[in-house]
Amino acid sequence: MTHRYVVLHGGLILTVDGCAATDAASRALGAPDAAGRRATAVAFAHDRILAVGTDAEVLPLAGPDSTVVDLRGRVVVPGFVDPHAHPLGEGMDAGKVLVGSELDLRGALRRLSDAASRLDPDAWLLARYDQTRWRDARHPTRDDLDRAIPDRPVLLAHVSGHAMAANSLALAFAGVGPQTADVAGRWAVERDVHGEPTGVVVGTDAASLFEAAVPPVTPGELADAVARASDRLAADGVVATADADLGSDGVGLEAALRAYVAAAADGRLRPSVSLLPGLARLGPPDAAPPAPADIAASIPPRLWDRLPVRSCKLKADGAMTTRTARLRDDYADEPGWRGLAVEDADALRARVLGAHAAGWQVCTHAIGDAAVDAVLDALEAVEASAGGPGAVATRRHRIEHAMLLDDAAIDRIARVGATLSMQPEFVAWAGDTYRARLGDARAARMNRYRSVLAAGIPVAFGSDRPVVLGAPIAGIAAAVRHAGPSGTGLAPEEATSAAEALHAWTAGAARASGLEGDLGRIAVGMRADLAVLSADPTEGRPWQDGRPGPKVVATLIGGDVVHGDLG
Ligand SMILES: [Zn+2]
Repeated sequence: MTHRYVVLHGGLILTVDGCAATDAASRALGAPDAAGRRATAVAFAHDRILAVGTDAEVLPLAGPDSTVVDLRGRVVVPGFVDPHAHPLGEGMDAGKVLVGSELDLRGALRRLSDAASRLDPDAWLLARYDQTRWRDARHPTRDDLDRAIPDRPVLLAHVSGHAMAANSLALAFAGVGPQTADVAGRWAVERDVHGEPTGVVVGTDAASLFEAAVPPVTPGELADAVARASDRLAADGVVATADADLGSDGVGLEAALRAYVAAAADGRLRPSVSLLPGLARLGPPDAAPPAPADIAASIPPRLWDRLPVRSCKLKADGAMTTRTARLRDDYADEPGWRGLAVEDADALRARVLGAHAAGWQVCTHAIGDAAVDAVLDALEAVEASAGGPGAVATRRHRIEHAMLLDDAAIDRIARVGATLSMQPEFVAWAGDTYRARLGDARAARMNRYRSVLAAGIPVAFGSDRPVVLGAPIAGIAAAVRHAGPSGTGLAPEEATSAAEALHAWTAGAARASGLEGDLGRIAVGMRADLAVLSADPTEGRPWQDGRPGPKVVATLIGGDVVHGDLG
């Protein structure tokens, strides 16, 4: 019997083992910080780690047939886990124009018209936009788009996924007109003084208004999109991620599921992807939802560990950048407006209770403080009814984003035992916009990593890519800087250390995903899923001040090099 036996030595191994989520608590355990015990060598056979230690301890384990690699000082960390992303959406978006880096909307329209001129005569222009950095910082309207591109349908998706902008032809094909009704929580059609749609539709399901009109994507194209996302994730050192709203990409749950299965069966999906069905799309709040096994039944059993189904996605509100996050008080830049609740409190509670009873780990999107309140009401109801005390912690029910928190909300989160899944790169992307939306005092209550960690709340970091580019290394820098694109700090006292951010992106994220038995630490018996970096991400502040950071030299999944090389 041949064993594929590999020894990596002569490097720095940040094990994220023998430590806790904060540097202070880690020192009490005898580790230097939250990046855990340091080693210089690691050995693995096939997909499992056999030994971790010094070169003197590990090198003698190498036999004549072993592969021995001198890391020459490079740094090995546990492969990154991203518990909240949209890989199918990322793969589908990869070929689309994204406007947002221009000076203003006019510059963006020029780029869009350029892109349109390269398309077939009948093709839709499908693109993405981010208005937050334009001088005028407003959504493009049908008039803007008609002037730039009058002769074909144009449909732009906001990067957050919480708004759409369409030209007149796209509105006509989709049948969106003065008669189109708003559906509370799902979409709101922006109208001019005559009641005509302006072309802007906000809300978490705004895209579904256009779904039937947009030319369909073939199953082969969807599987290709998954494979494309897989390559991008592997290049960023990600070994496990999640589709945190399966079926949200305008293709429906069945087609999305088939795309993941097809790519995984062909060996074109390298990181594992937890599939989180968006339960709100599958039925009304008072109906019993399907159980995890019902969804997993359409996945061949040999792929169950590559495509785990144990968690579901619900939504309480929208996004801060589109003013659809639900706030307790008015938006600072739009008096009288408090955002959109996706469902009223009773419906959300019914969904959370139903999903808990069906056996799901429930992951609920909540960005504004009022949305977090509503999720906490629902989680407390789980404990008060069927679940009993400890049910939320045991099932690891999560709040996704949990961006705007006051001290009372943090106390409630700690008491009910919820896990937080947070996205530090959001602040680097839109921190200045958050300050405009909320004013200085409330903006200082955004993404309170330090406070939630101090309260003992389990925290996972992730990206929500493709909302942002999503590389974990960029996420670590963003957590340490805690500043918007202008460089102005949002809540610097809530920043983490780089070691704490690494912990949240590995051990913390693995636990939040139910994968801590395999991933998140470099220790004997864990999977050989590793990222090899060009430099130590916990050392100094090199890239956090804008200089280039550590590069991902290689990514290993199950002991196989899936990106880069070890040479
Ligand atoms: Zn998301």
